[in-house]
This record gives sequence, structure tokens and C-alpha cells, in this order.
Amino acid sequence: MSDTQFDLVVIGAGPGGYVAAIRAAQLGLNVACVEKEKALGGTCLRVGCIPSKALLESSERFHEAKEGLGVHGVKVSGVELDLKAMMKRKTKVVRTLTMGVAHLLKKNKITRFHGHGRITGPGQVVVEGADGEQALTADKILIATGSKEAMLPGIEPDWDRVGGSTQALSYPEVPETLVVIGAGVIGLELGSVWARLGSKVTVLEYMDRILAGSDAEISAAAQKIFAEQGMEFRTGVRVTGARVDGKQCVVEYEGGEPLTCDRVLVAVGRRANTDGLGLGAVGIEVDRRGCIPVGAHFETSVPGIYAIGDVIKGPMLAHKAEEEGIACVEHIVTGYGHVNYDAIPGVIYTHPEIADVGRTEGQLKEDGVPYKKGSFPFLANGRARAMGDTDGFVKILAHAETDRILGVHIIGPRAGELIAEIAVAVEFGASSEDIARSCHAHPTLAEVVKEAALAVDGRALHI
Ligand code: FAD
Ligand code: NAD
Repeated sequence: MSDTQFDLVVIGAGPGGYVAAIRAAQLGLNVACVEKEKALGGTCLRVGCIPSKALLESSERFHEAKEGLGVHGVKVSGVELDLKAMMKRKTKVVRTLTMGVAHLLKKNKITRFHGHGRITGPGQVVVEGADGEQALTADKILIATGSKEAMLPGIEPDWDRVGGSTQALSYPEVPETLVVIGAGVIGLELGSVWARLGSKVTVLEYMDRILAGSDAEISAAAQKIFAEQGMEFRTGVRVTGARVDGKQCVVEYEGGEPLTCDRVLVAVGRRANTDGLGLGAVGIEVDRRGCIPVGAHFETSVPGIYAIGDVIKGPMLAHKAEEEGIACVEHIVTGYGHVNYDAIPGVIYTHPEIADVGRTEGQLKEDGVPYKKGSFPFLANGRARAMGDTDGFVKILAHAETDRILGVHIIGPRAGELIAEIAVAVEFGASSEDIARSCHAHPTLAEVVKEAALAVDGRALHI
């Protein structure tokens, strides 16, 4: 093969694209990966999962040192924020991981092209880089171009004081007042970061509750807890405009006086990114939400061109993109490859964390699925008590007749780690009885999961 001819060309090196490239290389394909940014890893590593989690971790430590240690008998004085150092650490974490991805591509002998990838025909990709254009040919093309921030009509971002998550990951000072538009995952995670660091955070949400996609009991508990932490929520509010106005920003919404603030974070969702991808050249049409339609094995309407991750339908999650990338290339090479969408966990890294797998109680009711339910609070758990971290509960929904687990919803300490057990259980088609009968170490937070499973059958022990 020439050095511009490949079995597979992957466009986009986010968690979907780079993982698919590695798996394809493991399976013996000659793979190229085209990425327009210098740093690899996509939204997730550069301006998403990783920098947000670095700031969530650092801001949580600051907040705890300032206010949360007295209860443990630890007196701390003179706690100060060094925002520059916090940001520097975040940048270092990101840099280390993006360099790690570059190393992984090299190790797997994946050829990397730096530039904007454009499909010019079946099996044809042109890379527009700093030194001009380069034409690649490929048996198969995998589109993994991810997503970009959505904006609302009436909002005039200057991408500084009125901006999105990328700006909110790098504010140079703690805004005294921050208005967050959208009480979804980004609004709550990044709202939490700045609230902990000292901002007065007001969250405006169009729906009548925060985290409208989550189980209703979880979102009600979350709203109460985050309000106690100092975030102000105005739900059922439609934002109609936001702009910079002199030294302040102004946010307008229906039914209320405009708000003035130092900064505005717009977090109203993300849209599939197909900018300049050349879909028209091969006749691929996007759906009404801008996503690329694919069949069961991620093939688009054009044979030999596939798409995975945020650019197709489904939850916009890094691990969902990864699983799809792996299944897609495994199917190409072996004829087998599958993603179990019922077993994809979602985690929100607030404090307490929120995590789920499967369906909400509302969805089960809507679909008329008969279910049983068991809940157990962290308040009644020895480890949570010892940690001094007792907010929240685990709720398990199981089929009324078969006992098969249909959905699990957790708000509480380390919910993001606890949900892994459930994802495995769902993957294995487990019942609530299976969890209830599995030995869980004592004293652990995981015992709350076991107790919730026991509660499905009305036999929780420690309450
Ligand atoms: P992306 O990661 O968006 O990668 C696509 C890549 O393609 C990008 O690097 C882009 O530069 C490149 N590209 C696009 N077009 C072209 C082109 N034409 N040519 C060449 N390259 C191109 N998800 C989680 O699971 N957990 C989290 O904690 C989490 N936190 C998040 C926090 C924030 C603030 C944000 C914004 C998102 C977060 N997400 C999180 C979502 C997660 O980042 C995405 O779901 C994930 O990155 C999607 O992976 P992907 O590979 O499909 O796309
Ligand atoms: P989201 O869909 O989670 O939340 C957007 C919110 O904005 C919704 O609650 C919506 O009702 C609200 N909204 C829409 N229009 C509005 C208006 N006019 N006025 C007021 N509110 C309005 O989207 P997001 O928080 O921007 O996150 C984008 C994606 O990134 C999500 O799909 C998420 O999966 C992903 N993400 C995941 C994580 C994680 O897994 N921990 C973290 C961050 C982002």
C-alpha cells in the first residue's frame, strides 16, 4: 500500500475515533486517523470530560478544606484559592492525557494526519492541513467528528463573557455572579465548580425541573441538595436573550425581569458536528437534529462509510462513542460487533454524584411496563456515616414478574463508581435478587445497592 492508501480512514480523534482506530489496528487493519486539532482526544480530553472533572475535583477540595472538615475535627485556617494554579493543573492533566493518545496511536502504527478531513467521494478523503491538501484513499471511512455547542436564538455570545462550556473551563477570575442557561449535565457540573469557588450561581431552566432527562425522584432530590449548596434555580423559564452590556452581561427571559451578571454560561445541549465534512459529495443526508443516520452496524446510507459517537443519535457520552467505535470496526473485520444500549451508564459528577443505567420510573409508567421498586438511603449506611456524606439514595426498578433489572438510579457519594456494578448486572441480564444475594463488603457504600435490591422484595435489613 502507498502511504496515502489505507484499509480504514477515521475522521476525528475523540474517544469514538481514536478508540476505533486502535481496535481496528489491533484487528490488523492499516489505519489512518485525521484530526483537525493539534491535540488528540477530542472534546472529551481537550474541553470536556477531563478538564471539567479536574476542576470539579480541585474545587471540591477547596470547598471541603474551607467548610467541610470541621465536622471531622480537623481545623483549617487561611484557606485561599489560587485559581491560576488550579487552571495550570487542569491544563497539565489534559496535556498528559492527549499526549498519551498520541503515544497510543504511534504504538498501534496508526498514521496520523493533522488537518480538516473532507470526504470527496466513496473511499476518498482530502486532508486540508497547514501545508496544503493531501488526498487519501480508503476501503472504509469512519466518521467520528463529534459535536459542538448549541446556541439559542437571541443569545449573542462574545465567546468570552457570554459563552459556553469551553469558556467556563477557563474563566480567568471567579465571577461574582454567573448565570447558567440550562440545568442539564454541563450546567450543573460547571455551575457547581464556580459555586464552590465563590460565585453566586443562578440557573435558568426551560423545563419544570432540573435534569429533565433523569428519573423524577432523582432530579427533585438533586434540586433540593444543590439549592442547599447555594445554587439558585428558576425552572419553567424560557430564555430569550443574553448579551454583553458594558461591564455586565444581561440575560432576558419570559415572565421575569432581566438578570445582570458578570458571566453567562450557555449549556443548552450539543449538536452533531458535520461542518465541512463533504457529506453532500457522497449523498449522505443528516436527520432533522443534524445527526448522521446509520444502520444497525453504524453504516451510513453509503456503503463503506460509517459513523459513530456524538455525530449519530443517542446519548452524547464518551463511553458510548467508544463502545460504538469498537463494535463498528469489529463488525467490519469479523462480522460481529454489538452495543447494548440498555447497559450504558450515565454519570453526573456533582457532589453528590448522580448515576443511572436503564429506564426511569416515568418511562416504565409511560410504556405500561409492570415494575417493582426498592430504595435505600445513604443515611442508613455505615460507610456513608463514617465519611460524613449521607445525602441521597439508590433506587432499583425491576420487572414485576421476572425481577429483571430495568433501571437503577443513584444520587449519593461515589454514585459514578457504584453504577459500574449495575452496568455489569444489566449486561448479564441480572435480577434484583441476584444483586441482593451477592455478598457486598462491609462497610462500603456498595451495601446501599444491595439494600436497595433487598428492598425491591420488601426485605431491606438496615432500615
Ligand atoms: P469528539 O470527542 O467531539 O471528537 C471529535 C473530534 O473530531 C474532535 O477532536 C474534532 O476536532 C474532530 N473533527 C471534527 N470534524 C473534523 C474534520 N472534518 N476533520 C478532522 N477532525 C475533525 N461525556 C462523558 O461520557 N463523561 C463526561 O464526564 C463528559 N463531560 C463532558 C463535559 C463537557 C464540558 C462537554 C462539552 C462534554 C462532556 N462529555 C462527557 C461528552 C463527551 O465529551 C462526548 O460525548 C465525547 O467527546 C464524544 O466523542 P466523539 O469521539 O464522538 O466526539
Ligand atoms: P443537556 O441536554 O444535558 O441540558 C440542556 C438543558 O438546557 C436542558 O435541561 C434543556 O431543557 C435546557 N434548555 C434548552 N433550551 C433552553 C432555554 N431556552 N432556556 C432555558 N433552558 C433551556 O445539555 P448540556 O448540559 O449542554 O450537555 C450537552 C451534552 O454533553 C449532553 O448530552 C451530555 O450527555 C454531555 N455531557 C455529559 C457529561 C457527563 O457525562 N458527566 C458532562 C457534560 C456533558
